[in-house]
Amino acid sequence: MKYAASVIDLVGDTPLVKLNHVTGDVKATVLVKLEYLNPGGSSKDRIATRIIDAAEREGKLKRGGTIVEPTSGNTGVGLALVAQQRGYRCVFVCPDKVGEDKRNVLKAYGAEVVVTPTSVAPDSPESYYSVSDRLAREIPGAFKPNQYENQNGPLSHYETTGPEIWRDTDERITHFVAGVGTGGTISGTGRYLKEVSGNRVRIIGADPEGSIYSGGGGRPYLVEGVGEDFWPGAYDPKQVDEIIEVTDAESFDMTRRLALEEGILVGGSSGMAVVAALKAAASLDEDAVVVVLLPDGGRGYLGKIFNDTWMDHHGFGEEPDESEVLTVRD
Ligand code: PMP
Repeated sequence: MKYAASVIDLVGDTPLVKLNHVTGDVKATVLVKLEYLNPGGSSKDRIATRIIDAAEREGKLKRGGTIVEPTSGNTGVGLALVAQQRGYRCVFVCPDKVGEDKRNVLKAYGAEVVVTPTSVAPDSPESYYSVSDRLAREIPGAFKPNQYENQNGPLSHYETTGPEIWRDTDERITHFVAGVGTGGTISGTGRYLKEVSGNRVRIIGADPEGSIYSGGGGRPYLVEGVGEDFWPGAYDPKQVDEIIEVTDAESFDMTRRLALEEGILVGGSSGMAVVAALKAAASLDEDAVVVVLLPDGGRGYLGKIFNDTWMDHHGFGEEPDESEVLTVRD
Protein backbone atom coordinates (compact mmCIF):
# COMPACT_ATOMS: atom_id res chain seq x y z
CA MET A 1 0.00 0.00 0.00
CA LYS A 2 1.20 3.49 -0.79
CA TYR A 3 0.19 6.12 1.72
CA ALA A 4 1.61 8.83 3.96
CA ALA A 5 1.72 8.11 7.68
CA SER A 6 0.21 11.55 8.36
CA VAL A 7 -0.51 14.71 6.42
CA ILE A 8 2.76 16.22 7.72
CA ASP A 9 4.68 13.67 5.67
CA LEU A 10 3.21 15.27 2.54
CA VAL A 11 4.98 18.61 3.15
CA GLY A 12 7.57 19.36 0.45
CA ASP A 13 8.62 17.48 -2.68
CA THR A 14 6.50 19.80 -4.80
CA PRO A 15 6.79 19.47 -8.59
CA LEU A 16 8.32 21.74 -11.22
CA VAL A 17 6.31 22.56 -14.35
CA LYS A 18 7.42 24.40 -17.48
CA LEU A 19 5.75 27.66 -18.52
CA ASN A 20 4.78 27.51 -22.20
CA HIS A 21 2.50 30.46 -22.98
CA VAL A 22 3.24 33.53 -20.85
CA THR A 23 6.93 33.32 -21.80
CA GLY A 24 6.58 35.00 -25.23
CA ASP A 25 9.98 35.25 -26.97
CA VAL A 26 12.01 34.04 -23.98
CA LYS A 27 14.56 31.41 -25.07
CA ALA A 28 15.46 30.10 -21.60
CA THR A 29 13.54 27.24 -19.97
CA VAL A 30 11.34 28.73 -17.24
CA LEU A 31 10.12 26.24 -14.62
CA VAL A 32 7.77 27.03 -11.74
CA LYS A 33 7.70 25.17 -8.42
CA LEU A 34 4.12 24.66 -7.24
CA GLU A 35 4.11 25.21 -3.48
CA TYR A 36 0.29 25.24 -3.36
CA LEU A 37 0.52 21.44 -3.58
CA ASN A 38 1.71 21.34 0.04
CA PRO A 39 -1.06 20.03 2.37
CA GLY A 40 -1.74 23.47 3.92
CA GLY A 41 -1.57 25.08 0.48
CA SER A 42 1.68 27.05 0.71
CA SER A 43 5.46 27.04 1.16
CA LYS A 44 4.88 27.99 4.81
CA ASP A 45 4.13 24.34 5.67
CA ARG A 46 7.87 23.79 5.31
CA ILE A 47 8.87 26.42 7.86
CA ALA A 48 6.12 25.40 10.30
CA THR A 49 7.40 21.83 10.39
CA ARG A 50 11.02 22.86 11.01
CA ILE A 51 10.16 25.61 13.53
CA ILE A 52 8.03 23.24 15.64
CA ASP A 53 10.56 20.38 15.43
CA ALA A 54 13.33 22.72 16.63
CA ALA A 55 11.21 24.21 19.45
CA GLU A 56 10.46 20.67 20.71
CA ARG A 57 14.14 19.73 20.53
CA GLU A 58 15.21 22.88 22.36
CA GLY A 59 12.55 22.41 25.05
CA LYS A 60 10.74 25.65 24.10
CA LEU A 61 7.58 23.71 23.29
CA LYS A 62 6.47 21.00 25.68
CA ARG A 63 3.49 18.65 25.85
CA GLY A 64 0.31 20.73 26.19
CA GLY A 65 2.10 23.91 25.05
CA THR A 66 0.57 26.78 23.09
CA ILE A 67 1.86 28.41 19.90
CA VAL A 68 1.21 32.18 19.81
CA GLU A 69 2.00 34.12 16.62
CA PRO A 70 0.77 37.30 14.95
CA THR A 71 -0.30 35.89 11.56
CA SER A 72 -3.36 35.74 9.43
CA GLY A 73 -2.06 33.94 6.45
CA ASN A 74 -0.13 30.97 5.22
CA THR A 75 2.19 30.71 8.23
CA GLY A 76 -0.83 30.35 10.49
CA VAL A 77 -2.22 27.52 8.38
CA GLY A 78 1.13 25.69 8.39
CA LEU A 79 1.56 26.11 12.15
CA ALA A 80 -2.07 25.12 12.87
CA LEU A 81 -1.73 21.98 10.78
CA VAL A 82 1.45 20.77 12.45
CA ALA A 83 0.28 21.87 15.94
CA GLN A 84 -2.97 19.95 15.59
CA GLN A 85 -1.15 16.77 14.63
CA ARG A 86 1.21 17.13 17.60
CA GLY A 87 -1.46 18.13 20.15
CA TYR A 88 -0.52 21.79 20.70
CA ARG A 89 -2.95 24.68 21.08
CA CYS A 90 -2.61 27.61 18.64
CA VAL A 91 -3.55 31.22 19.30
CA PHE A 92 -3.15 33.57 16.34
CA VAL A 93 -3.49 37.31 16.52
CA CYS A 94 -4.69 39.14 13.44
CA PRO A 95 -5.85 42.67 12.67
CA ASP A 96 -9.53 43.23 11.90
CA LYS A 97 -8.75 44.13 8.27
CA VAL A 98 -8.10 40.43 7.66
CA GLY A 99 -11.09 38.89 5.91
CA GLU A 100 -13.41 36.43 7.64
CA ASP A 101 -12.56 33.62 5.22
CA LYS A 102 -8.91 33.75 6.25
CA ARG A 103 -9.79 33.66 9.96
CA ASN A 104 -12.20 30.78 9.35
CA VAL A 105 -9.49 28.68 7.69
CA LEU A 106 -7.36 29.01 10.84
CA LYS A 107 -10.37 28.08 13.03
CA ALA A 108 -11.17 25.13 10.78
CA TYR A 109 -7.79 23.64 11.67
CA GLY A 110 -8.58 24.19 15.36
CA ALA A 111 -6.69 27.43 16.02
CA GLU A 112 -8.09 30.23 18.19
CA VAL A 113 -8.08 33.67 16.58
CA VAL A 114 -7.77 36.93 18.53
CA VAL A 115 -8.76 39.98 16.49
CA THR A 116 -7.13 43.37 17.13
CA PRO A 117 -8.02 46.83 15.74
CA THR A 118 -6.07 47.75 12.59
CA SER A 119 -6.23 51.50 13.20
CA VAL A 120 -3.91 51.73 16.23
CA ALA A 121 -0.17 52.53 16.38
CA PRO A 122 2.23 49.52 16.57
CA ASP A 123 3.23 50.52 20.14
CA SER A 124 -0.39 50.72 21.38
CA PRO A 125 -1.26 47.96 23.91
CA GLU A 126 -4.13 47.00 21.57
CA SER A 127 -1.94 46.49 18.49
CA TYR A 128 -1.39 43.19 16.75
CA TYR A 129 2.23 43.08 17.98
CA SER A 130 1.52 44.13 21.59
CA VAL A 131 -1.35 41.67 22.02
CA SER A 132 0.67 38.74 20.70
CA ASP A 133 3.61 39.66 22.98
CA ARG A 134 1.29 39.89 25.97
CA LEU A 135 -0.39 36.55 25.24
CA ALA A 136 3.00 34.88 24.76
CA ARG A 137 4.00 36.19 28.22
CA GLU A 138 0.73 35.37 30.00
CA ILE A 139 -0.19 31.93 28.61
CA PRO A 140 1.71 29.22 30.49
CA GLY A 141 3.85 27.09 28.16
CA ALA A 142 3.51 29.58 25.31
CA PHE A 143 5.98 29.56 22.42
CA LYS A 144 6.18 32.38 19.87
CA PRO A 145 7.80 31.22 16.60
CA ASN A 146 8.48 34.77 15.29
CA GLN A 147 8.85 33.85 11.63
CA TYR A 148 10.64 37.14 10.83
CA GLU A 149 13.61 36.28 13.03
CA ASN A 150 13.48 32.49 13.44
CA GLN A 151 16.47 30.94 11.59
CA ASN A 152 14.61 27.64 11.23
CA GLY A 153 12.56 29.33 8.48
CA PRO A 154 15.51 29.80 6.08
CA LEU A 155 16.97 26.50 7.30
CA SER A 156 13.86 24.59 6.22
CA HIS A 157 14.38 25.92 2.68
CA TYR A 158 18.11 25.14 2.85
CA GLU A 159 17.29 21.56 3.79
CA THR A 160 14.30 20.87 1.52
CA THR A 161 13.47 23.45 -1.19
CA GLY A 162 17.07 23.88 -2.39
CA PRO A 163 17.90 20.15 -2.66
CA GLU A 164 14.58 19.38 -4.40
CA ILE A 165 15.27 22.00 -7.08
CA TRP A 166 18.89 20.89 -7.58
CA ARG A 167 17.77 17.24 -7.93
CA ASP A 168 14.75 17.91 -10.16
CA THR A 169 16.71 20.10 -12.61
CA ASP A 170 19.49 17.48 -12.88
CA GLU A 171 21.81 20.15 -11.43
CA ARG A 172 21.17 22.37 -14.48
CA ILE A 173 19.42 25.28 -12.79
CA THR A 174 21.14 28.59 -13.64
CA HIS A 175 18.77 31.14 -12.00
CA PHE A 176 16.45 30.98 -8.98
CA VAL A 177 13.71 33.58 -8.53
CA ALA A 178 11.49 34.08 -5.45
CA GLY A 179 9.45 36.86 -3.91
CA VAL A 180 10.81 38.24 -0.62
CA GLY A 181 8.61 38.54 2.49
CA THR A 182 10.41 37.40 5.64
CA GLY A 183 13.24 36.52 3.23
CA GLY A 184 13.38 32.93 4.47
CA THR A 185 12.67 31.29 1.10
CA ILE A 186 15.26 33.19 -0.91
CA SER A 187 17.94 33.14 1.81
CA GLY A 188 17.72 29.40 2.57
CA THR A 189 17.17 28.14 -0.98
CA GLY A 190 19.71 30.62 -2.31
CA ARG A 191 22.40 29.55 0.17
CA TYR A 192 21.95 25.86 -0.72
CA LEU A 193 22.00 26.47 -4.48
CA LYS A 194 25.07 28.71 -4.26
CA GLU A 195 26.98 26.22 -2.11
CA VAL A 196 26.16 23.17 -4.19
CA SER A 197 26.86 24.88 -7.54
CA GLY A 198 30.05 26.67 -6.47
CA ASN A 199 28.28 30.05 -6.77
CA ARG A 200 27.12 29.36 -10.33
CA VAL A 201 23.39 29.76 -9.68
CA ARG A 202 22.22 33.39 -9.73
CA ILE A 203 19.69 34.27 -7.02
CA ILE A 204 17.08 36.90 -7.90
CA GLY A 205 14.54 38.42 -5.50
CA ALA A 206 11.22 39.87 -6.63
CA ASP A 207 9.87 42.78 -4.62
CA PRO A 208 6.77 44.97 -4.81
CA GLU A 209 7.38 48.57 -5.80
CA GLY A 210 7.51 50.58 -2.53
CA SER A 211 9.05 47.86 -0.35
CA ILE A 212 12.40 48.12 1.44
CA TYR A 213 14.21 45.35 -0.50
CA SER A 214 14.08 47.33 -3.73
CA GLY A 215 14.90 50.58 -1.93
CA GLY A 216 11.29 51.70 -1.79
CA GLY A 217 10.07 54.60 0.26
CA GLY A 218 7.18 52.78 1.88
CA ARG A 219 4.69 53.43 -0.90
CA PRO A 220 1.71 51.11 -0.22
CA TYR A 221 1.15 48.07 -2.42
CA LEU A 222 -1.58 45.46 -2.59
CA VAL A 223 0.26 42.24 -3.40
CA GLU A 224 0.18 40.09 -0.23
CA GLY A 225 2.88 38.14 1.61
CA VAL A 226 5.88 39.95 0.11
CA GLY A 227 7.74 43.21 0.66
CA GLU A 228 8.59 44.74 4.05
CA ASP A 229 9.13 48.09 5.73
CA PHE A 230 11.88 46.73 8.05
CA TRP A 231 14.82 44.29 7.69
CA PRO A 232 13.89 40.87 9.09
CA GLY A 233 16.56 38.57 10.54
CA ALA A 234 15.32 35.73 8.31
CA TYR A 235 16.65 37.67 5.29
CA ASP A 236 20.31 37.25 4.39
CA PRO A 237 21.26 39.84 1.74
CA LYS A 238 24.54 37.94 1.01
CA GLN A 239 22.57 35.21 -0.77
CA VAL A 240 20.79 37.58 -3.14
CA ASP A 241 22.50 38.78 -6.34
CA GLU A 242 19.77 41.04 -7.63
CA ILE A 243 16.36 42.42 -6.68
CA ILE A 244 13.80 43.17 -9.39
CA GLU A 245 10.99 45.59 -8.59
CA VAL A 246 7.49 44.73 -9.82
CA THR A 247 4.32 46.87 -9.73
CA ASP A 248 0.96 45.60 -8.45
CA ALA A 249 -0.50 46.03 -11.93
CA GLU A 250 2.20 43.81 -13.48
CA SER A 251 1.84 41.21 -10.69
CA PHE A 252 -1.94 40.95 -10.92
CA ASP A 253 -1.97 40.87 -14.72
CA MET A 254 0.50 37.96 -14.70
CA THR A 255 -1.40 36.18 -11.89
CA ARG A 256 -4.51 36.18 -14.08
CA ARG A 257 -2.55 35.09 -17.16
CA LEU A 258 -1.05 32.12 -15.27
CA ALA A 259 -4.58 30.85 -14.56
CA LEU A 260 -5.91 31.65 -18.02
CA GLU A 261 -3.00 30.55 -20.20
CA GLU A 262 -1.07 27.99 -18.12
CA GLY A 263 -3.87 26.49 -15.97
CA ILE A 264 -1.99 27.52 -12.82
CA LEU A 265 -4.22 29.24 -10.23
CA VAL A 266 -1.87 31.01 -7.81
CA GLY A 267 -1.68 34.10 -5.57
CA GLY A 268 -0.41 37.58 -6.45
CA SER A 269 3.11 37.04 -5.11
CA SER A 270 3.47 34.15 -7.58
CA GLY A 271 2.49 36.43 -10.45
CA MET A 272 5.02 38.94 -9.15
CA ALA A 273 7.82 36.34 -9.08
CA VAL A 274 7.02 35.25 -12.65
CA VAL A 275 7.15 38.87 -13.88
CA ALA A 276 10.61 39.26 -12.33
CA ALA A 277 11.74 35.91 -13.78
CA LEU A 278 10.64 36.85 -17.30
CA LYS A 279 12.41 40.23 -17.02
CA ALA A 280 15.60 38.41 -15.98
CA ALA A 281 15.15 35.72 -18.65
CA ALA A 282 14.71 38.22 -21.50
CA SER A 283 18.50 38.49 -21.94
CA LEU A 284 19.28 34.77 -21.44
CA ASP A 285 19.88 32.09 -24.07
CA GLU A 286 18.37 28.60 -24.48
CA ASP A 287 20.90 27.00 -22.10
CA ALA A 288 19.52 28.91 -19.12
CA VAL A 289 17.20 27.10 -16.69
CA VAL A 290 15.23 29.56 -14.56
CA VAL A 291 13.30 28.18 -11.56
CA VAL A 292 10.59 30.37 -10.01
CA LEU A 293 9.00 29.50 -6.66
CA LEU A 294 5.22 30.06 -6.54
CA PRO A 295 4.37 30.28 -2.79
CA ASP A 296 0.60 29.71 -2.69
CA GLY A 297 -2.60 29.00 -4.62
CA GLY A 298 -5.16 31.43 -6.00
CA ARG A 299 -8.27 30.34 -4.06
CA GLY A 300 -7.49 32.75 -1.22
CA TYR A 301 -7.67 35.66 -3.67
CA LEU A 302 -10.94 34.95 -5.52
CA GLY A 303 -12.53 38.06 -3.98
CA LYS A 304 -9.58 40.24 -4.98
CA ILE A 305 -7.25 39.54 -7.94
CA PHE A 306 -9.79 37.29 -9.66
CA ASN A 307 -12.72 39.62 -8.97
CA ASP A 308 -13.32 42.20 -11.75
CA THR A 309 -15.09 44.65 -9.43
CA TRP A 310 -12.21 44.65 -6.92
CA MET A 311 -9.68 45.02 -9.73
CA ASP A 312 -11.63 47.93 -11.29
CA HIS A 313 -12.01 49.59 -7.89
CA HIS A 314 -8.23 49.57 -7.45
CA GLY A 315 -7.59 50.85 -10.94
CA PHE A 316 -6.36 47.59 -12.48
CA GLY A 317 -9.33 47.06 -14.81
CA GLU A 318 -9.78 48.14 -18.40
CA GLU A 319 -8.89 51.76 -19.17
CA PRO A 320 -12.08 53.78 -18.51
CA ASP A 321 -13.59 55.41 -21.59
CA GLU A 322 -13.57 59.19 -21.91
CA SER A 323 -17.16 59.78 -20.77
CA GLU A 324 -16.51 57.88 -17.52
CA VAL A 325 -13.37 59.90 -16.86
CA LEU A 326 -15.30 63.15 -17.36
CA THR A 327 -18.02 61.98 -14.99
CA VAL A 328 -15.48 61.17 -12.33
CA ARG A 329 -13.80 64.59 -12.72
CA ASP A 330 -17.16 66.40 -12.51
N1 PMP B 1 4.17 34.88 -0.94
C1 PMP B 1 3.25 34.62 0.00
C2 PMP B 1 1.82 34.51 -0.38
C3 PMP B 1 3.66 34.49 1.33
O1 PMP B 1 2.74 34.23 2.28
C4 PMP B 1 5.03 34.63 1.65
C5 PMP B 1 5.46 34.53 3.08
N2 PMP B 1 5.32 35.74 3.81
C6 PMP B 1 5.95 34.92 0.64
C7 PMP B 1 5.48 35.01 -0.64
C8 PMP B 1 7.41 35.19 0.91
O2 PMP B 1 8.14 34.15 1.48
P1 PMP B 1 9.28 34.47 2.55
O3 PMP B 1 8.59 34.93 3.81
O4 PMP B 1 9.96 33.16 2.74
O5 PMP B 1 10.18 35.52 2.02
